[in-house]
Order: sequence, then C-alpha cells, then structure tokens
Amino acid sequence: MTKRKNIKPKIAIIGLTSCEGCQFVMLDQGRRFLDWLAKVQLEEFRLVEDEPILAEHYDICFVEGNPVTKANIKLLKEMRCRSDKLVVVGNCAALGGVWELKNYASKTRAIKAVYKKLKVANPDIKEVDNFVKVDYVIPGCPIDGDEFIELANQLLKKGSFRIPQNPVCYECQSRGYQCLLQQEEICLGPITLGGCKAVCLKSKQACWGCRGLFDGAQVENFMNYLLKHFSREQVYRIMEVFGARDTILKRLEEMQGKKNRKFGKSKVNKIDNKIKKLK
Ligand code: SF4
Ligand code: SF4
Ligand code: SF4
Repeated sequence: MTKRKNIKPKIAIIGLTSCEGCQFVMLDQGRRFLDWLAKVQLEEFRLVEDEPILAEHYDICFVEGNPVTKANIKLLKEMRCRSDKLVVVGNCAALGGVWELKNYASKTRAIKAVYKKLKVANPDIKEVDNFVKVDYVIPGCPIDGDEFIELANQLLKKGSFRIPQNPVCYECQSRGYQCLLQQEEICLGPITLGGCKAVCLKSKQACWGCRGLFDGAQVENFMNYLLKHFSREQVYRIMEVFGARDTILKRLEEMQGKKNRKFGKSKVNKIDNKIKKLK
C-alpha cells in the first residue's frame, strides 16, 4: 500500500453480480462501520451509487459478487489495475456462490428454467481469482460482521490480515452443538474454514462449506469418510450449494498429485476419476 503521511487510504467497495447481502452486512455494523469509514476516504460504494466513478488510484478495493457479465469483468480488471490491494468479500466472489450450481447441472436446462422465453448469455460461473490477482479473501455467505470489522481494521493498521486456520468443527464443538455428522447427516465442518461462529450448527443446520477450505484441511481423509457413508451424488449435492465442489476437488487433486509424484507416478488423472477411485 502506498504510504502517505496524514492522508487517509482511498477505498472502493464494488459489487459485481450478487445479492448485495455482504455489503448490507457492512452497513449492519452501524457505528462500528462508521468508525472504520472515518479512518478512510471512501471513493466508491456500490450500495450508494449506481455507476462507480473511477479514481486513478485506490489503496484497497473490496470486491463483492461474481464476474458474470462482460461489464462485471471489465470493471473488475480496471479496479485491479488501479488498486494496491484487492480483497474479495463473500462466497460468490471467492467460490462462485450459489449461481455456480448451474455449472454442475445442464447449463441449457438451468437457463431455460429461469428465462423461459428470453435468449440470454449463459457463461460458466468463475471465481474472481480466475480473472485477476486476489490479495485477500473475507469469506462467507454472507460475511460475518465482527470478522469484517476486525479484518478491515487490520488491513488499515498492518496492510494485511490472516484468518486463524481452524475448522468450523472447532467453533461448533467449543459451543457445545450436537454433531450432525455423527447423526448421519453430511456436514462439511471438518474441512471448512471457521470464523462464522458455527452459525448454521446453532440452528441444527449442517455446514455446507460457504467459507471454503482452511489450510491443512484433510480433504482426502474426509472424502474417504463421506464416501463410505453417503453416495457420491449426495456428497456432491451438498458441496455444490455454495460453489465449494470444484475447490474441494482441486485440493484433492493437488494432494493426490503430490502423493503420485512421491510414488513416482507421472500422470495425474482427472479429478472426477480420483473421487470415483476413492469410492
Ligand atoms: S456471498 Fe452470499 S450474501 Fe454475499 S453477496 Fe454473495 S450471495 Fe449475497
Ligand atoms: S456438526 Fe459438523 S461442524 Fe459440528 S462437529 Fe459435527 S461435523 Fe463438525
Ligand atoms: S457453518 Fe458452514 S455454511 Fe454455515 S456459515 Fe459457517 S461456514 Fe458457512
């Protein structure tokens, strides 16, 4: 980040294709959000203006939503060029979001179910980091308000942040919630990054992985466990809700690729075959 004495950092908060729920979480923080805003120069905020006015330079750009349309992609690339740090905010920016479901279904059928008569563009859903370099991720659908304030303040103070790499299970069990996995329900808590206070488990709803994987998640062991107890279709269905399926399978591929290299195998099979093999 550019260091300029007594000059507040220039901030942009932009929204691509999204429900804008994460931006509303920011506003919901009320006084705490206003206190944070007082430390910055807010140049763009999608919720309060229709079209961003592009300044030449931003210290930090927060990006909510998925780059679905050509206009989204153009804006994202422009903001990346003009920003020292780019922080993706929320599940649809980081993992593709609920709209990624259509990547896994028949794309034509999915679009016809919604736009019965209209002809509309039907691109694959891709995460923000497929288009531009991402410096930091604030995960969740929606983001957690306490965590946003904490990380946004850390960014101003230190120019960086790191989320503690614990699984959702850690927060779930330290709060004394019942383990749903032990009751034969698919729960992705063991491989999902904590920090959401295990909010779903509080309502006896299993974790569907909206915050993505934590570093060091034992994906292979966990997939082995799941596939012993559930069908592949059941497991995929849960992994697809928040767009986590491709990320989980990619991590699995990386883990198995490493293992293959260790054992001298040169060719890494396609990820879908890997999971079939696990079964
Ligand atoms: S992550 Fe969830 S709450 Fe946030 S903008 Fe996307 S869909 Fe909405
Ligand atoms: S319910 Fe889910 S998050 Fe909680 S301990 Fe069991 S597997 Fe982990
Ligand atoms: S429990 Fe899982 S699905 Fe629910 S908010 Fe936390 S990470 Fe997301």
